[in-house]
Amino acid sequence: MNITKSKLRAKQSITVLTGAGISAESGVPTFRGSDGLWKNFRPEQLATLEAFQANPHLVWEWYDWRRKLIKPIKPNPAHYALVELEAQTEQFTLITQNIDGLHDKAGSQNVLEIHGNIWKVQCTKCQYLSHNSEVPIQILPTCEQCGGLLRPKVVWFGEVLPEKELETAKFAATHCDLMFIIGTSGLVQPAASLGVAGKQAGAYVVEINIEQTPLSNIADETHIGKASDVLTNLLS
Ligand code: NAD
Ligand code: ZN
Repeated sequence: MNITKSKLRAKQSITVLTGAGISAESGVPTFRGSDGLWKNFRPEQLATLEAFQANPHLVWEWYDWRRKLIKPIKPNPAHYALVELEAQTEQFTLITQNIDGLHDKAGSQNVLEIHGNIWKVQCTKCQYLSHNSEVPIQILPTCEQCGGLLRPKVVWFGEVLPEKELETAKFAATHCDLMFIIGTSGLVQPAASLGVAGKQAGAYVVEINIEQTPLSNIADETHIGKASDVLTNLLS
């Protein structure tokens, strides 16, 4: 039995950090994969406040395309494995950088969406926050309270993360025995730093990815493989 399996048996407190890789098997493109491109724009050119201010129509068109793509998508065995793990663990926190809502759809309970959710919109004028699952969405969508322009309630490159979620995520990363880092490139901050913080605070860090990442250097174990295969195997 490897160390991860014995630690899993101990049902200690577990924190999981997930990234786009866990949803890749469901068919949601990652940003760094070639199918993440839309009309030859890189996500870094569209997922910024500057891009939205310069051309909200273009940015909303891109989000509409992503929402259309994500809407019919179902969670995969990796998402469900984490639901099972949560049910078996006394203290469990799932921190996700994903905005697709698939952990929620799978049934995970204690989820921190530190980069927001593509099905939430916020008014740029009065900050009113609401759910919107319309596909296609009306471009440009406006606020039902004040008529202001709505934006996707996601964290864009260069923006700060929601304070409360980030604090809770930091606490969970630094107060767990076992930490999983699944399907994240480790290139987006401060999300990646949560893995480092977990390690520094004494967690046993297990990375799952189809390739090595900068976080492989700090991980106690790196399992190279698809998230669904590795998780299913670890939990069997
Ligand atoms: P990323 O696109 O930078 O990296 C994805 C990582 O997943 C890579 O390291 C890749 O090797 C790995 N991967 C791909 N397929 C995998 C699989 N089947 N099993 C395990 N690992 C696999 O993603 P990121 O680190 O999450 O950062 C990108 C940013 O983009 C985040 O802020 C996130 O919010 C956003 N994003 C979200 C979604 C989504 O909600 N599904 C999709 C694209 C981007
Ligand atoms: Zn408003």
